[in-house]
Amino acid sequence: MNDREEDSDYLRLTLSPPRQSSCYTRYSSDSAPTSASAPVLETPWPNSTTTRLIAASSPLVETLWSGTTTTTPSITTGRGSTPAARPRRTAASGSATVGGAAPSRAKEERIVAPYPWATERRAVVHSLDYLLSQGILSIRGDLVCKRCDGKESRDVDLQSGFLGLSSFFLGSKDTMHDRAPKVWMVPRLLDCGLCHQSDCVKPVIDDKKRRINWLFLLLTQTLGLCTLDQLKYFCKHTKKHRTGAKDRVLYLTYVGLLKQLNPSGPYE
Ligand SMILES: [Zn+2]
Repeated sequence: MNDREEDSDYLRLTLSPPRQSSCYTRYSSDSAPTSASAPVLETPWPNSTTTRLIAASSPLVETLWSGTTTTTPSITTGRGSTPAARPRRTAASGSATVGGAAPSRAKEERIVAPYPWATERRAVVHSLDYLLSQGILSIRGDLVCKRCDGKESRDVDLQSGFLGLSSFFLGSKDTMHDRAPKVWMVPRLLDCGLCHQSDCVKPVIDDKKRRINWLFLLLTQTLGLCTLDQLKYFCKHTKKHRTGAKDRVLYLTYVGLLKQLNPSGPYE
């Protein structure tokens, strides 16, 4: 059900003028109204403050991010990876075809990559090699403290985070029996840099599933904060068997993301 909603939003995003896009209007509410005529679609991050933080702190990320946004026209062409797919666009003349796009096909189409480390495919991030080659050494995420309600962004180191998690998984998977251990199911929260209490800061998980910061949740080992519905979304879009209890689906999500980062790794 939620997926269908998301897809209808997606269609509006890609096929309607930005000003008619309800979700962007909503998410860009903290931007100055005067920017409405500016390219709203080029700031896919829901939180413009975060975008500024990234841009200010990491020119490399900003460069990549600009490169990512310039590829967005291919989104409206659907699967633009093969030239053969392009003729479909010539058949799409004007807005008359907007309502005619099949919902099932829309799910296969590309989205705007929600983060520099995410791809244009739902719930798929770039590989570790690719990210490091692009100079992306850390992954940023938004946090909120459940005690003081303070909000902040934090960076986690990509390579050391991956290596630590990978070795934990490979060393423990024989005892996991295809189910997430308790430390994943009930993750310890981070400590708050504002009210200085511990185990109280959790990542912000975007209401829009396609904008969930999967890599940040992986590296902070807080994927267990996702709902079963959100985890099933990940498995659905990464072609994983997605039935079962939360510990099973959460396990598949961890394994799936490890595999995305290191496609040749022994994750099963
Ligand atoms: Zn706090």
